[in-house]
Amino acid sequence: MSPTNSDALLYKTLKDYFGYEAFRHLQKEIITSLLNGKDNLVIMPTGGGKSICYQLPALLLPGLTLVISPLIALMKDQVDALNANGISAAYVNSSQSDRENRDILDRVQQGSIKLLYLAPESLSFFEQLTQITSISLIAIDEAHCISSWGHDFRPAYTQLSFLKKQLPNTPLVALTATADKATREDIVQQLNIVEAQQNISSFNRANLSLEVRPGQERVKQLLDFLKSKPNESGIVYCLSRKQTEQLAERLQKNGYAAAAYHAGLPSQERSKIQEDFIHDTTPIICATVAFGMGIDKSNVRWIVHYNLPKNIEGYYQEIGRAGRDGLDAETLLFYSYADVVQLRKFAENSGNQEVQMAKLDRMLQYAEATHCRRNILLNYFGEPATDSCGNCDVCNHPPTLFDGTIIAQKILSGIYRLQENEPLHVLIDFLRGSQNAQILDKNYQELKTYGVAKDIAWKDLQHYCIQLLNQGFFEIAFHQNNSLKLNELSKEVLFNGHKVELSKPVEINKVAPTEVQKTSNPDNNLFERLRALRLELATAKGVPAYIVFNDATLRNIANERPITDEDFLAINGVGKQKLEDYGYDFISEIIRFNKDKAVRIKPTKPIKKIKKTPYWLLTKHINKACLPKKLPKIVA
Ligand code: ADP
Ligand code: ZN
Repeated sequence: MSPTNSDALLYKTLKDYFGYEAFRHLQKEIITSLLNGKDNLVIMPTGGGKSICYQLPALLLPGLTLVISPLIALMKDQVDALNANGISAAYVNSSQSDRENRDILDRVQQGSIKLLYLAPESLSFFEQLTQITSISLIAIDEAHCISSWGHDFRPAYTQLSFLKKQLPNTPLVALTATADKATREDIVQQLNIVEAQQNISSFNRANLSLEVRPGQERVKQLLDFLKSKPNESGIVYCLSRKQTEQLAERLQKNGYAAAAYHAGLPSQERSKIQEDFIHDTTPIICATVAFGMGIDKSNVRWIVHYNLPKNIEGYYQEIGRAGRDGLDAETLLFYSYADVVQLRKFAENSGNQEVQMAKLDRMLQYAEATHCRRNILLNYFGEPATDSCGNCDVCNHPPTLFDGTIIAQKILSGIYRLQENEPLHVLIDFLRGSQNAQILDKNYQELKTYGVAKDIAWKDLQHYCIQLLNQGFFEIAFHQNNSLKLNELSKEVLFNGHKVELSKPVEINKVAPTEVQKTSNPDNNLFERLRALRLELATAKGVPAYIVFNDATLRNIANERPITDEDFLAINGVGKQKLEDYGYDFISEIIRFNKDKAVRIKPTKPIKKIKKTPYWLLTKHINKACLPKKLPKIVA
């Protein structure tokens, strides 16, 4: 095959089966390399499009593609998605009966399955497979599970080294979103693919917006945040189980379909909650960090951290669960001084105290950032980044910095006057001249500097104190009731005129009410109508809504409004199978929508006659019953 021919074949397969017009970054290179028999290591962020890298070659290679995947839920999702695209795929694992597994192996033997998913624990099937079929490609998904360096280590993954030994000529591709070097080395060593072509794409998830806000009136802020996102799916991560339950209840009372999820719930209940989330029946989950691993839901549109996470790794993994379909998704983190105190306590009680503390400090620096947050994240993961991203709150609303030396001096002398014996809230009350019991009982009103900052609001003063703390101008003795302590740098400010720069507190954004109106009325909004249709079709088939079409494709349909088969197939994300299965229903809904609109909108200008062939003559799928009796009125 000439290079142009093979290129054309790749694009045709991409469109026919997956519905996409173009490859994403690195996909084509990886696919071509695998088709040429080379081993590959693929590092791509979540949502980068790893699956197609082995699923497309599987369609072009003669035999079976074997996919090793760690979780049954992930396998099921992938197999559902492949079947929906008209690709024969199946999995064998311990959740199925022997009979079911045997039936699948029979189908493999007949050559009617192109991709077979297998858990690393089920490799006993491997011998059988090599006897009944030829394996053309092996893909190892979530390959970081092989490494005890990183998170999610799975002992069964370490047994995979025999694959390359037994099938040395079969190309093997290892895929993961975990980029660190130690894990990478481990993967290629353990899988015996040291010569593998390495494809490392940026760790950046440009479609995720990043925002951090002070954690005051969080429930109110959260409700405001949700107003602009009716029906959209998201996760609120909380620190405690109790908090997940309380918050879910508050959201329910405010009309949101929300549920709590934590490790203390019975496993059956947890599975049900997870299932309802995946199927969009319960679009909002308030969860502890246990939630999300093994969920491949592509249309999670937002993530909120109700509390400060304990490290950047966890935070990045959690926000990474949003926007896997590549569409914009929002992330919002609340943090407060109380979170820091609690997390410090956790860290102190952990086995690895120093490392945990250092990681928490990095998390705090992120929360308090005065320059691009994305750069901080990327640099943390070893990817040099300096350009402002334009999609984080700091880039969009750069903080106003001012000379805060005098405020800093007041705060630090307050700590000194209280003899370094009091925690932050007492210091703030003291500086603001409060007359509460904690002040009066100890006669603090008699001390110098009492009330020197009474012109500054409580919250603002707290904001300045935390900034000073994070810049190292004083410390907290967590072992001594969180009392505040001065250090060398404090003395520089107090006695040597060392300048301190502080940032002004940011006003919390308010949601524009018009925006809410616009998106929440499904009658006026084709996207919402198509979304409801998608849910109906998905429920009838027993698959998650995003298996029918992901949000990106649904948006394309809503924007393009196709009313012929050709136009429907031309949508990015619609392949042949999906045209066959869903074209009729979606086109009918668009026609109904056009009709409703034509009736409702009174034309202000004369109506133009359509000269083109009426659209229903172009489309074989249209249901006669749903056609308008007359030509719809087209508003010029
Ligand atoms: P990963 O496994 O890297 O997290 P997926 O393979 O699940 O990512 O892909 C993420 C999303 O991107 C899916 O909805 C997938 O259909 C979509 N996608 C993959 N490749 C393309 C492409 N070339 N064009 C458009 N969308 C794509
Ligand atoms: Zn930025």
